[in-house]
Amino acid sequence: MHIEVKVLGSGTSTGVPVVGCDCQVCLSDSSYNKRLRSSILISRQDNQEHVIVDTSPDLRAQLLSQGWGSGETLKKVLYTHTHADHSHGFDDLRVFCFRDKKPIDVFLKQADKEDLMKRFSYAFEASLYSGVVPQIQFHHIQENAFALWPDVWVEPYFLPHGTVQSTAFRLGRFAYATDFQNFSEKQIRGWQGKIDTMIASGVHMRSHPTHSSIPETLALFDRLEVRRGILTHLSHEVDYVTISSQLPPGRELAFDGMCLSVDIGDVSLP
Ligand SMILES: [Zn+2]
Ligand SMILES: [Zn+2]
Ligand SMILES: [Zn+2]
Repeated sequence: MHIEVKVLGSGTSTGVPVVGCDCQVCLSDSSYNKRLRSSILISRQDNQEHVIVDTSPDLRAQLLSQGWGSGETLKKVLYTHTHADHSHGFDDLRVFCFRDKKPIDVFLKQADKEDLMKRFSYAFEASLYSGVVPQIQFHHIQENAFALWPDVWVEPYFLPHGTVQSTAFRLGRFAYATDFQNFSEKQIRGWQGKIDTMIASGVHMRSHPTHSSIPETLALFDRLEVRRGILTHLSHEVDYVTISSQLPPGRELAFDGMCLSVDIGDVSLP
């Protein structure tokens, strides 16, 4: 099966440029150095259905950039975790609920559901008249495979990220992992050799207390035997041209609007 993956945002939590920063990257004219908050869009090529991974604070602008017409809709959301830079576009999901008159399927782990309901408590109050808030159908993720569609199974991993966990998702031979410190040895063995294309975060070159750095994520790609490894969630310390030129073959920096066509193999069974 083929899917299309689009990087809607490749930036760390502040986005790039950072408001009020006058460093070289923030002042750069290059579109490759302009990064909205991180999320990806996964599109089936057979039925125009789209799934978004995370609802960044830039969600509205990211969706407008797709130029969708009335035939296209967002039916499903996967959450890696609910830090502000990954969840604060939540309210913008409601446009699809108005139009489709159906709730959106949201897949997330229990702790993320609880946190999301706290952050957006107004959307879950019983007294609200319908239509003003997103209508959500929650699906709990545990650390085993689940069906995103009946013919597409997804394997999640829960990864350490400061005081929370971030969920990585593998759809056959494609994987997306953002905001993690590392994979355990067991997790590496589980996915080793199974992934052709992976998008994973690496905030900047130096180490970070709650995130994998670019050198650490490059080492992870090698351990997982990923053929095409793409770094995302990049900070303003990352000049696209300078860092790209230092990467080994098969390793790239993500940029906003990057589009991949990925053969994910047979994903009809877990
Ligand atoms: Zn983040
Ligand atoms: Zn800057
Ligand atoms: Zn985070």
